[in-house]
Amino acid sequence: MVVREHIPLSELTTLRVGGLARYVCTCDSVEDVESAVLLAKRENLPFRVLGEGSNVLAHDDGYPGVIIRMHIPGVSYVEEQDHVLVTAGAGVAWDELVQDVANRGLWGLENMAGIPGTVGASPVQNIGAYGAELRSVFALAQVYDTATARLVEYDAAACQFEYRDSIFKRDRSLIICSVTFKLFHEGEPKLGYSDLSERQREGYEMNTPVSIGENVRLVRARKFPDMSVQGTAGSFFKNPIVSQSLFDTLSATHGAVPSFPAKNGIKIPLAFILDKVLGLRGFKKGAISLFGNQPLVLVTDTGANAKEVDDFAREIEKKVKDATTISIEREVQTLTENI
Ligand code: NAP
Repeated sequence: MVVREHIPLSELTTLRVGGLARYVCTCDSVEDVESAVLLAKRENLPFRVLGEGSNVLAHDDGYPGVIIRMHIPGVSYVEEQDHVLVTAGAGVAWDELVQDVANRGLWGLENMAGIPGTVGASPVQNIGAYGAELRSVFALAQVYDTATARLVEYDAAACQFEYRDSIFKRDRSLIICSVTFKLFHEGEPKLGYSDLSERQREGYEMNTPVSIGENVRLVRARKFPDMSVQGTAGSFFKNPIVSQSLFDTLSATHGAVPSFPAKNGIKIPLAFILDKVLGLRGFKKGAISLFGNQPLVLVTDTGANAKEVDDFAREIEKKVKDATTISIEREVQTLTENI
């Protein structure tokens, strides 16, 4: 395990803001994770796990504890009768796994191509895209339970998956060390989302995991900023789920509001509210702005700080609340001592 001290969180998170982390432990194995947790316990410090830091807002005051940088590598394949169990280390880059399984002709991850982050982070918010969701291909996770100092298996039920949510968001004592996916040699393209069906209509071939993955990456490249170029955490906010009566009120006031049925109500694209209701596409204040091609993505310029990001996000939250009564939630997680 490599241990470094007083490392800027702006270098460890894709929003590129945040002060110094007291310790940063780069962990290549479960044993390294155990050692990092022991360091935190010995010094009576909090700890948090970071993968690529692509969904995290750090604080300008930094983090007064141990950052566990998840680098556990490795992907293994086990052929079962009608499916393949694919196990990947929590530090594997998500999109590398998506490409690897697609190259082997396996179905299940292709619509989630191009999502930033690591395999270990994928169950935390039950990532999903274009009609696919992690929980539908999830078999189990190997979890280091820091409360008991034991490695345990979590199946889908234990993970308590919901839309962009799981037990791992609420219980930070659980550290995901690897994830096993159940994938299939046979599959059907899922091209129901307009971004994908339009491409199909335009004549792009989308009938294999590889070709679907490539097209999803191209669509995403148009809608999301390049993390290697700009500070961003992808979608900063979640798309809200509203009641039928609120939806009816919004439609009466703002015309045809796009809508999709959801478990607990009606899901509406936040981009529609930000763009068409509030006219905020490209809204900019100082070093922070909403991305022109996708307004629920927040972008930071060089020199931005975490407070500016937080203030900007609060302003957006208030504008949405004032105009629609909807309390939007952040998809991005806050990296502070207590949360
Ligand atoms: P989008 O495709 O413009 O969709 C906006 C909203 O409308 C989302 O809530 C989406 O639901 C919903 N929607 C659109 N078409 C739908 C359909 N045919 N059936 C049901 N619901 C539909 O969203 P975007 O911001 O450009 O993102 C593209 C995809 O990447 C979306 O699926 C989004 O969820 C996903 N994404 C995921 C993450 C993540 O996992 N962290 C981050 C960024 C984007 P869903 O959200 O259920 O798809």
